[in-house]
Amino acid sequence: MNEFWSNCLNRFQEELSQQQFNTWIKPLDCDIQEANVRLYCPNRFVMQWVKDKFSQQISQLAEDYLKQPCEIEFIISDTKKIDAVEPRVNTAQEVKKPKEVKKKTDTKSANSDGLNPAFLFENFVTGRANELARAAALQIAEKPGESYNPLFIYGGVGLGKTHLIQAIGNFVKSHNSEAKIKYLHAERYVSDVVKAYGNKSFDEFKKKYHSLDLILVDDIQFFAKKPRTQEEFFYVFNSLIESKKQIIITCDTYPKEIADMDERLRTRFSWGLTVAVEPPELEMRVAILLKKAEEAKVKIGEDVAFFVAKQIRSNVRELEGALNRIIAMSNFTGREIDINLAKEALKDLIAVKSRQITIENIQKTVADYYKIKVAEMYSKKRTRNFARPRQVAMALARELTNFSFPEIGEAFGNRHHTTVMHACDEIGGMKNTDPVLARDIAILTQVIRD
Ligand code: ADP
Ligand code: MG
Repeated sequence: MNEFWSNCLNRFQEELSQQQFNTWIKPLDCDIQEANVRLYCPNRFVMQWVKDKFSQQISQLAEDYLKQPCEIEFIISDTKKIDAVEPRVNTAQEVKKPKEVKKKTDTKSANSDGLNPAFLFENFVTGRANELARAAALQIAEKPGESYNPLFIYGGVGLGKTHLIQAIGNFVKSHNSEAKIKYLHAERYVSDVVKAYGNKSFDEFKKKYHSLDLILVDDIQFFAKKPRTQEEFFYVFNSLIESKKQIIITCDTYPKEIADMDERLRTRFSWGLTVAVEPPELEMRVAILLKKAEEAKVKIGEDVAFFVAKQIRSNVRELEGALNRIIAMSNFTGREIDINLAKEALKDLIAVKSRQITIENIQKTVADYYKIKVAEMYSKKRTRNFARPRQVAMALARELTNFSFPEIGEAFGNRHHTTVMHACDEIGGMKNTDPVLARDIAILTQVIRD
């Protein structure tokens, strides 16, 4: 490896997180000749990402090194990729592994502080979707009680909220063994209130919660419609804030939107910092998959990671589920993990996804195919040029979705359900006698299902 590139690698290794480095920089290779820098990328996804995020810095480093302006040429190269995969696996072994990953979501089996040692900052993959939340979490973990209070993290299911606040707890615990920390799911808090109520043991309850240095309350939306719980939490909140103890809360929505919650609490929730976690974009999903595979000590290629990441878009939990299926199938059959195996392992998931076809999508695809405007799908015009594609779209909507005749009628400019039934009959009959139409429908079905 040339001196310039090994300098670059060192530089990036210092600046980036391990997983970012492993995913985007490590697989690259570089030739440098006079003022010409060639960067070899294993695939176009990596290339695009590197171009967007790092090319400026690389060319700056190159200019510093060559002491003259220079140009970077990006090249996709399969052979270099194969070379690059090996060292990646080796470095993976050097990377400090988080402790044996236990059954993660099972926080009941965790310690009495509620912390699960598997959730760490080190194994939390960062990307645009969670950058801010992670930065805030880390800052607070470093100086609990001193910056934002409370920290309120919100977002949909499976996007890493629990992981992140657990990471805060674990971080604080590892830096200060004296700190009194409690992680708990909101439902647990509710049941504690109920118990205290039943046993008339509110003094004890108060002692337990008001003496904490750090409280992490997960999924606070579960306090909804529980006024006594809310009231008790109001006291805990005030007492902890007053004594500069850190409060961290997660929720499925932002403070103002929480339903059936005391207004005073809602206001207080936004006193500190409110940050969102969002669904990860494609590259981040790939990075997460690679990270999880590494943790499971399993090798998966980037092609497989991209394939899975493209199929599973909703959240990280499902991404993990998909990876586990693939690993299980590989263990079970003794086959190597490749795209074919992944396809097989995820067969049901992919099928389910493709069944979620929308009428809108069908209308658009059919309109494109027949080169008419989508608006003609709802229009009242009855000329054959429009009526036939409209009927085809209706028939496809019936066949490829679970919508009823009336629902389909409504989606096509409020037509009567008998119109849809008629269209289905007619297209169904003609398919058998008109090979052009039959072919059109076969192609359209494939495109829509894809
Ligand atoms: P939420 O609490 O938002 O529903 P979780 O924190 O339980 O989501 O995350 C679901 C799973 O996905 C966990 O196993 C978690 O480790 C994993 N996960 C979520 N986001 C990330 C991330 N950015 N990096 C690594 N793993 C993640
Ligand atoms: Mg959670």
